[in-house]
Amino acid sequence: MSSGSNSLVAIQPLLGESKRSLLSRVRSFIWLIGKLAETIPLPFICWLGMNILQGSMPPFQIWASGKLVNAIQVRIDGHQANPWLWAILMASGLAGSRLLAPTKSWCEAAIHEQGVPAVHSRVLERTTEVDLALLEYQAFHDVALRIAEQANQTLKETLKTLGDILTNVIPIIGAILIISRIHWLLVAALFLPLIPLLAVSLRQGDLVWSALSKQTRDRRIAQYIAARFSDRQAAKEIRLFGLADELIQRWEVHFTATRKEMRGKITRAFLRLQLGGTGADVISYAVLIWAITGRFVHLTAADITVLMGAFMTIGNQSFQLQQATLDIGKHGGFAADVRAFLNLPAPCAVIPTSATIPPQPLSITLDHVSFAYPGATANVIDDVNLTIPVGQTLAIVGENGAGKTTLLKLILGLYQPDSGRIFFGDRDLQSIPIVERQALMAAVFQSFSRYPESILENITIPKGHDAAELERVISEAGLDRMIADVPDGIETILSPDLGGIDLSGGQWQRLAIARAAYRNATILALDEPTAALDPLAEVDIFKRFAQLSDNRTTILISHRLGMTRLADRIIVIEHGKITEDGTHAQLLRNNHHYAELWEMQSRWYR
Ligand code: ADP
Repeated sequence: MSSGSNSLVAIQPLLGESKRSLLSRVRSFIWLIGKLAETIPLPFICWLGMNILQGSMPPFQIWASGKLVNAIQVRIDGHQANPWLWAILMASGLAGSRLLAPTKSWCEAAIHEQGVPAVHSRVLERTTEVDLALLEYQAFHDVALRIAEQANQTLKETLKTLGDILTNVIPIIGAILIISRIHWLLVAALFLPLIPLLAVSLRQGDLVWSALSKQTRDRRIAQYIAARFSDRQAAKEIRLFGLADELIQRWEVHFTATRKEMRGKITRAFLRLQLGGTGADVISYAVLIWAITGRFVHLTAADITVLMGAFMTIGNQSFQLQQATLDIGKHGGFAADVRAFLNLPAPCAVIPTSATIPPQPLSITLDHVSFAYPGATANVIDDVNLTIPVGQTLAIVGENGAGKTTLLKLILGLYQPDSGRIFFGDRDLQSIPIVERQALMAAVFQSFSRYPESILENITIPKGHDAAELERVISEAGLDRMIADVPDGIETILSPDLGGIDLSGGQWQRLAIARAAYRNATILALDEPTAALDPLAEVDIFKRFAQLSDNRTTILISHRLGMTRLADRIIVIEHGKITEDGTHAQLLRNNHHYAELWEMQSRWYR
């Protein structure tokens, strides 16, 4: 199966978002609550208990008020009864409700502070574990963005929704049980209108979520455009090319597209809820009046007190329950996204990051490897066979779009081949756990990360600080002078936005090289690592690198043949195939594409 289709299978749960049934969203809602409970069980159980107790208070009050009226009636009739007992019980219930509130708040705060970030960080972690090819799909980006945007708020709201359900359903059930002792017709009249009402609420919530989901792409584009205005790189072009008006117009189109539909759906959902609620109230009160007038049941004063209390409770709670049901529909969509996201398959077994595996130098073998990007029909890498012995410095050369970076990403295990296999030593790359791969390989890509941290952090992230190692890589990457010149030395923060400084393109590249070298991996991959440096500085860095270790395998992509000629071996890639393989001298003698490129580049410098 191709990697394109592999990842297509993997992405199915995310693509199927619109096909998920309402029931599955409700199940996902319950699943998400379970996830929250798992992360912080004690405060969760305490919070649950508080909600159940709080929900039990209204029916308790109704029951006790019935008993109180009854006791007063018995007294009035001249018999023995103790209304004080019931009055004290009712007062204790009220006092208890007040005491429950702060305890519940405390538990809720603990879940917000620990449980919510724990679930959120698990989602972030998952993003880095899945096959990199998934990032080529819009569906993946949409879901990742929706989750990132809403995780914090929606996880809190999900918890609140469960609380609202408990504190509203329990009084309704209690009230129904109390009324059932008077006459079943009263129960039916009260309870039946609630069922379609709640179903409508659930559906409304579901619609609101679907509208939100559909607009993710527009929101993403609107956010992207808005971010351009404060991005230093983009801001230069916006000013020079006079792009501001055009960009603002496009931003408005995408921004308002997302709002109008949402507003319409929310207003309609709210109207239907209100109308439904009013209809249910009318039916309930008609039955109540019918009962009080004695048409089908004889009621005592205590019965009427209980009945009035129960009706008012059900009227109040059912409106709030409707809102909570709408929220289940809405948050169930979010929960289903999180569930599908966490269930995305990892490309290989993940072992705990605390494991330390001594990296061993290993040869690399590609055996008939082919690869196409998801959605593309043509292979970008086409039946490549290659063996890189331990300690070799291999340069990959070829025109733009030939497939050099893709080949490197396959070797690093960032993409999985559609066909063929890659071996490190005699182990299939797919069977090597991620942590072991991380210890084995380091890379500098064309678009490397620039962390808004200190120079030290930019080099050592995420390993600990080793002074000797640090000194070695700083000198290897030629960073000594720059560090001596900046205000706080190695502690200087590299972000003008955070009060620090910015570096030149070449200095950032040296830093990225130092970061890769600091990992002390046995396989080092460099993809155009020095494009922003002048040719002399580039050759200087490369020489220092190449001399450093006999055991380190270095794979280098560069357009500058002045640098690649220093490699032990050069391969030329054309249309995803290796067309030449040998040393600089051998390839010149071959007089093919490499010799042509060399001749062309040499001419620039003559
Ligand atoms: P090189 O490094 O030799 O310039 P690449 O490996 O980056 O070439 O790209 C090889 C081919 O694959 C190009 O035609 C490019 O358009 C295509 N390609 C690269 N990245 C992607 C991607 N993420 N999705 C689809 N096609 C891609």
